[in-house]
Amino acid sequence: MYKTTLAALAAATMLCAGTAFAQQNIDFSKVEVKTTDLGNKTYMLEGAGGNVTVAVGTDGIIMVDSQFAPMHDKLKAAIEKISPLPVKYLVNTHYHGDHTGGNAAFHKDGATVVAQDNIRARLAAGTTNGLTGAKTAPQPAEALPTDTYFGGTKTVQVGGRKALLNHVYNAHTDGDTWVFFDDANVLDTGDTFGNTGRYNTIDFANGGDIRGLIRAADAYIKVSNDQTKVVPGHGALANKANLIAWREMLVTSRDRIQKLFNEGKSEQEVLAAKPLADLDAKWAANPDQAANWTRMVYNSFKRS
Ligand SMILES: [Zn+2]
Repeated sequence: MYKTTLAALAAATMLCAGTAFAQQNIDFSKVEVKTTDLGNKTYMLEGAGGNVTVAVGTDGIIMVDSQFAPMHDKLKAAIEKISPLPVKYLVNTHYHGDHTGGNAAFHKDGATVVAQDNIRARLAAGTTNGLTGAKTAPQPAEALPTDTYFGGTKTVQVGGRKALLNHVYNAHTDGDTWVFFDDANVLDTGDTFGNTGRYNTIDFANGGDIRGLIRAADAYIKVSNDQTKVVPGHGALANKANLIAWREMLVTSRDRIQKLFNEGKSEQEVLAAKPLADLDAKWAANPDQAANWTRMVYNSFKRS
């Protein structure tokens, strides 16, 4: 029963990531946080919203993502069970509310919020979902990252622990960061990779692009070995084999839809042609998700 509820939550979150709608449909009082020990004082936390990674050093904690705002107290309690040390840094993998909702509360607790700079800009300005037209309101100053970087990489450190942040431009959004803890062989991908067994989302109205998702997958496969523990944006803990299967789905999606786009086909014509029917059978939860994925891949090519 509990598992069914979580699966439903994951599906709702996946389809509506970043919108207020996703949050409104979750009964947070029923959510429990599940903690998985990944070794070397590194943990994966699952609750409601994107997965969280926690890395404990000698004088503080680095945390990656903060789920929806109402999850703060439960996440905080789960972290206190791991270590009494404070969260010194909260890294945002991207701006969506199911990953950044806890920013203001963790900031109030003393954490510095770290992110690629486009996250700050998008949170401050508010955003519109390209698929649904749903609007997300501008966030208050206390919810914005204060330690931002613009491109390439950034290192965040607490005593004895190091998180290597890498920006992949134009992938799930235009502000994605993936995080590697090489001392624990743990990779946190944010929503540039999902392990629900389903298509994820491409936020094309806010800089997302299928080609960036493929660049991200290439980087993950390069940095991983068979022992790497991959914390996906949503879904169960993953491994290199999951990354390889994911990349194959992305490449096939890109190749087929880019071909139709280059032939001048409209979005409606591409939808009607069902170019991903065989993939949809495996990766789409329902016909709407199949159509949305095709639309998101198609709209990637409209960006340039
Ligand atoms: Zn997202």
